Amino acid sequence: MKELRETVKSLLTEGKVDLVIGWEKGTMPGASTPVFIDTAEKADSLIFDSTCRNNLSVYFTKDRRELAKDDKKIGVVVKGCDSRSLVLNITEKQIDREKVTIIGVPCNGVLDMKKVTGKVDGKEILEFTDDGERVTVKGREFEQTFPLDEVISDSCVTCVRRDAVEHDLFIGEAREPGSDENAYVEVEEFEKLDSGERWARMEQEYSACIRCYACRNVCPSCYCNVCFVDQNDPQWIGKSPEITDTMIFHIIRNLHVAGRCVECGACERACPMDIKLLLLNRKVAKEVRDRFGSVTGTGLENKPAMADFKEDENQDFIMG
Ligand code: SF4
Ligand code: SF4
Ligand code: SF4
Repeated sequence: MKELRETVKSLLTEGKVDLVIGWEKGTMPGASTPVFIDTAEKADSLIFDSTCRNNLSVYFTKDRRELAKDDKKIGVVVKGCDSRSLVLNITEKQIDREKVTIIGVPCNGVLDMKKVTGKVDGKEILEFTDDGERVTVKGREFEQTFPLDEVISDSCVTCVRRDAVEHDLFIGEAREPGSDENAYVEVEEFEKLDSGERWARMEQEYSACIRCYACRNVCPSCYCNVCFVDQNDPQWIGKSPEITDTMIFHIIRNLHVAGRCVECGACERACPMDIKLLLLNRKVAKEVRDRFGSVTGTGLENKPAMADFKEDENQDFIMG
C-alpha cells in the first residue's frame, strides 16, 4: 500500500500524470470504491486488496469524453484483468498508449461477497481485513478467518493472468502468466450437454434477468455510443424483461464482446439477480482461443480476433 501511494505521489508531483484512477476504502466492510486522485495529498487514501473488485478500465471507454478533456495525462492502477481491458481498448484505438501510465498491482483474486456472507451464515459483518492470503471478518459476538482462495470470485479461481500484462510501473514483482489448460472445466461440462439442454440451461439462468443493464454498464468492452437495446428506430428488441427479448439481449451482447471479453467477472459481480453470466462469456472466449489462437488483451501487437484475418485460419464454421 505504502509503495503504491508513494509511486502515485511521485507521478503527480513530477507532473508525469494529472490524474490517477485507483481504489479507496468503501463505506461498507469488505468494499472499496473507485477514486480519482489529482493531488499528492489525496494519494494517501489509495488501497489495493481483495475488495478492489471494479475493472477500472471502464472509465476509459465509458467516460472517454470527460477524460479526454484538457488532454489530461492519466494514470490507472490495474489488476491483470483490468490491464487486459486496457490493452484491448488500446488496440481498438479507444486509448492512446502514450497518454496513459499503467501501474500494475499484484492480484490474488477479488472477493465474492456472497461467498463471504455464506461463510458466516449471513450474519452481519462489521469489520473486514485481508492480509493477502487470509481474510478475517468480525461482527457482533463472532470473528472468523478463512483462506482468501475460498471466497474469491469464480472468475478469479480460474484466472491465469493475475498481474498486469502491460504496465509502466509495477508494485512488487509481476508474476508470469500460468497455463490455461484447466481453466475451462466448467465450460467443458456445459459443452457435453446437447443443444436442447444447453438452451434450457441458459433460458433457466437468464429468466431471472430484470434487464437493468448493470452487466453492460460495468463492462469496459461494451462502449457503443448507443447500445442496440436503447435504439428506438429501428427498435431491435422489446423493452420488457420478456424471456425472448432477454435471450436476444444476452446472445447479442455475447457476440458483441466475442474476442473482446477479458473474463474479469465484473458483469457477474454487478448482477443483482446472481445470474451466472461468465459461463457464456467464457464459452465464447474458449471458442475464440481454440479457433483463432487468440486470448483477448494479452498483447498490444495482437488485433482483437474479430478485427483480424489470417488466410490460414480455421474456417470450418463457414464451410461446414
Ligand atoms: S480475474 Fe484475475 S486479475 Fe482479475 S481480479 Fe480476478 S484474479 Fe485478479
Ligand atoms: S463481459 Fe463481463 S467478464 Fe467480459 S469483459 Fe465485460 S465485464 Fe468483464
Ligand atoms: S445485470 Fe443481471 S439482471 Fe441486470 S441486465 Fe445484466 S443479467 Fe440482467
